[in-house]
Amino acid sequence: MQVKVVKFGGSSLADAEHFRQVASIIRADEARRYVVPSAPGKRFPEDTKVTDLLYTCYEMVRRGEDMTPVFEQIRARYNGIIEELGLDCSILEDELTFVRGALLHNSGRDYAASRGEYLNGIVLAKYLGFDFIDAANVIFFCDDGSFDAEHTNAILSEVLQRHPRAVIPGFYGSMPNGTIKTFSRGGSDITGSIVARAAQADLYENWTDVSGFLMADPRVVKGAQPIETITYRELRELSYMGAGVLHEDAIFPVRFAGIPINIRNTNQPGDEGTMIVAQTDKYDSEHVITGIAGKKGFSVITIEKDMMNAEIGFGRRVLEVLEEEGVSFEHLPSGIDTMSVVLSTQALEEHRDHMLNRICTKVNPDSISVEDGLALIAVVGRGMVKAKGTAARVFRAVADASVNIRMIDQGSCELNIILGVDDHDFERAMNAIYAEFVK
Ligand code: ADP
Ligand code: ASP
Ligand code: MG
Repeated sequence: MQVKVVKFGGSSLADAEHFRQVASIIRADEARRYVVPSAPGKRFPEDTKVTDLLYTCYEMVRRGEDMTPVFEQIRARYNGIIEELGLDCSILEDELTFVRGALLHNSGRDYAASRGEYLNGIVLAKYLGFDFIDAANVIFFCDDGSFDAEHTNAILSEVLQRHPRAVIPGFYGSMPNGTIKTFSRGGSDITGSIVARAAQADLYENWTDVSGFLMADPRVVKGAQPIETITYRELRELSYMGAGVLHEDAIFPVRFAGIPINIRNTNQPGDEGTMIVAQTDKYDSEHVITGIAGKKGFSVITIEKDMMNAEIGFGRRVLEVLEEEGVSFEHLPSGIDTMSVVLSTQALEEHRDHMLNRICTKVNPDSISVEDGLALIAVVGRGMVKAKGTAARVFRAVADASVNIRMIDQGSCELNIILGVDDHDFERAMNAIYAEFVK
């Protein structure tokens, strides 16, 4: 029998009505045997995700404040769902008492955040009549905080064999010492992928609130079209650059196993969504580009020095400073006598003065400056290698929209072109590029 792993995001499990919808999706296909839920998300735009309420509780306890009003909101959300679904009202009573006590005893930030998925998993398992598998017992991290893929896969695949149908909460696992650790925000997508690998699934369905991976962020480009098929590599480029549909690390566990990911819309289950696959020789994209994504909030450090190109080890010494500070960079556009380092403003912030001083000491530049307010836009597409003049079309479209391009970088594999524009030009540039290729 086929096996499908299905992950439902927070908006797909925000209230009882969505739980019913989720159950009907699962019951519509026997193969949907393993379910990975997120914590209840937003029911309406101004609503707060349970995960954020939990982070608030943690912070309040840490500051010595009374978390009761916030914790009661969390209790009310779960109990509201339980009651409306007609489940036994007491299923979370002991759990909530325990979680409350643990939060009051400062049980850690990750522990706090993880309870959103944990509690939601219990409710969903009860509602579906599936077994509940606590992710703490099957998803493992190493001492350095990295995900322990092989240990996890060995244990999880064995456990899944004993449970033909189960709910495994997303977002967290455990450290070697037994404490709870979460992935970064949006990490339930990664759990879904890990479960798909361990179950040797035929398909990993990722159910969310949009009908697939769209060619651009729908909040920036209104009415952006869904992408029918996209490769893992294209997807990684887009999600790294801010296309938040799927966590950027979610492809790793399924990539080698070659398990396709299907992004689907919980509110429109009839839509086919987007297929994310290893290879697409079979699929020609309709447009030259597959998608566009971007993020604001980058800074550029520009270092100038005459004869820089002749000074062996110059670049290495600059990057060494970043490494010492534990700061990663995005791009390194360079000229003969100039080198620029593009990095996130947030990452730079606390190291700014110290880092600039260190660079000056190490390479003795003629000048060094930092400019903030840069937005990066990635134009991604496997079809770009074959199509002549793609870069020219991108630049013309942006220029015609009266947007000044501050940086250009083309990936060596010709899968993407990265542009840097001013933060305030971001939306205009995104729409201009989209219109050039799609409309
Ligand atoms: P979930 O709660 O299901 O995990 P997310 O909020 O993490 O859902 O991801 C879905 C959201 O991602 C969409 O509602 C949309 O606003 C946003 N998004 C950003 N870029 C894109 C894109 N290129 N295609 C589709 N959605 C996008
Ligand atoms: N609930 C977590 C978050 O809000 C994880 C997830 O939704 O994937 O980030
Ligand atoms: Mg998500």
